[in-house]
Amino acid sequence: MAEAGDGNIKVVVRCRPLNSRELARGAKPLIRMSGNQTFLDPPEAGSQQDTKRATERKPMAFSFDKSYWSAGPRDEPGYCSQQTLYDDLGKELLDHGFAGFNACILAYGQTGSGKSYSMMGYGADKGIIPLTCSELFVRVDERKAADPNINFTVEVSYIEIYNEKVRDLLNPKNTEDLSKLMVNSYGEMMTLMDEGNKARTVAATNMNETSSRSHAVFTLLLTMKRHDSDTNLDTEKVSRISLVDLAGSERANSTGATGQRLKEGANINKSLTTLGKVISSLALASSADTKKGKKGKSEDFVPYRDSVLTWLLKDSLGGNSKTAMIAAIAPADYEETLSTLRYADQAK
Ligand code: ADP
Repeated sequence: MAEAGDGNIKVVVRCRPLNSRELARGAKPLIRMSGNQTFLDPPEAGSQQDTKRATERKPMAFSFDKSYWSAGPRDEPGYCSQQTLYDDLGKELLDHGFAGFNACILAYGQTGSGKSYSMMGYGADKGIIPLTCSELFVRVDERKAADPNINFTVEVSYIEIYNEKVRDLLNPKNTEDLSKLMVNSYGEMMTLMDEGNKARTVAATNMNETSSRSHAVFTLLLTMKRHDSDTNLDTEKVSRISLVDLAGSERANSTGATGQRLKEGANINKSLTTLGKVISSLALASSADTKKGKKGKSEDFVPYRDSVLTWLLKDSLGGNSKTAMIAAIAPADYEETLSTLRYADQAK
C-alpha cells in the first residue's frame, strides 16, 4: 500500500540522443551521467558549438533523484527506455492513485528536448501517458475480477493553458465547466487523447504556432466504490492523476520580444517560475513535516495562486500527493541545458 510521507517529490533528468541536425553539424554531447549525477561540460574552445567564448563556461555537476541516459544506443548498459521511465515513475504514481491519493508527473525542458517523447511518446514507442493508461485498465480489471463488490469509474479531462487561459481540448468551444468524460477502455481513452491533441494542433496552426507555447494537462480521475456486504457500508475513494507536458522553457525568455510574443513569454515565465517555487516549497514542507512527524502544516505558504497552472494542479501537487518532475535535456546545447538543470536543481 502506498504511503504518504517523505519522498513525495521526485526530480529526475532525462537526456535525449543527438538528432540528425546535431550529428550533421558534428555536435558533440556535452552531457555525462553517472548514477544520480548529471555533468554538463562546456563545448570545446573554437568548436562550432562554442558560440560564446568557452572560457566563460564552466563544467557543472548536479545531482537529482535520478539521471536518465537515453542519449546512446538502446542496447547500451544504463540506457533508459520508455519502459524504464514508466517502471520508475508511472508505476509508483499509479500505486498511489489506487491507494486513493493524487499524483502528478510533469515534463519540463526546452522545445525539442524530449518532453512529448517522455509523456506521450511517438507511435509504438509509447511514453508515460499511454503506458500508465493501459496499466490503469489492467489493474481495474484485475481488481474487479478479484472482488465482485468493487466498482471503478475512470474519467478524463484534457486542457491546455495558453496565456493564463484554459482551453478545453475535449470540447474546444466549451467555455463553462471543463469536460470530464467517462471512459471504459484504454482504446477509448487514447481516442480522446488523439482528439485533444488534434484540437491543440489545429489551434496552434491557426495561430501559426506550435504547441510549445502552451501547457497541456491530461487528467485521469479514478473513482473506486466498494460495497461491504458484511457491514452493508459503501466506501468511495477518488484520486486524480495529472500528466503535464509544459510549454517550452526557452519561451520563458522573452528578451528582445515585443507584442504578443512578449506577453506569451511573460506568461510562460510566470507559470514556470511559480511551478518551480511551488515544488520547492512542497519539497521543503515535506521534509520539515516528516522531521516533525506530521504533515500539511508547513504548506500554508505555497504560492499556488500565482499562476493558473499551479492553481489547477493544486490538488495533485500538495498534501499527500506524489509528484515527479522530468527535466528533459538536449545533449549538445550548453545554455538551455544549464538553464533546465538549474531550474530542476532549485525545484528539488
Ligand atoms: P519536446 O516535446 O520537448 O518539444 P520532443 O519530445 O518532440 O520534444 O522531442 C524532439 C525529438 O527528439 C522527437 O523527434 C523525439 O522523437 C526525439 N526524442 C526525444 N527524446 C528522445 C529519446 N529519449 N530517445 C529517442 N528520441 C527522442
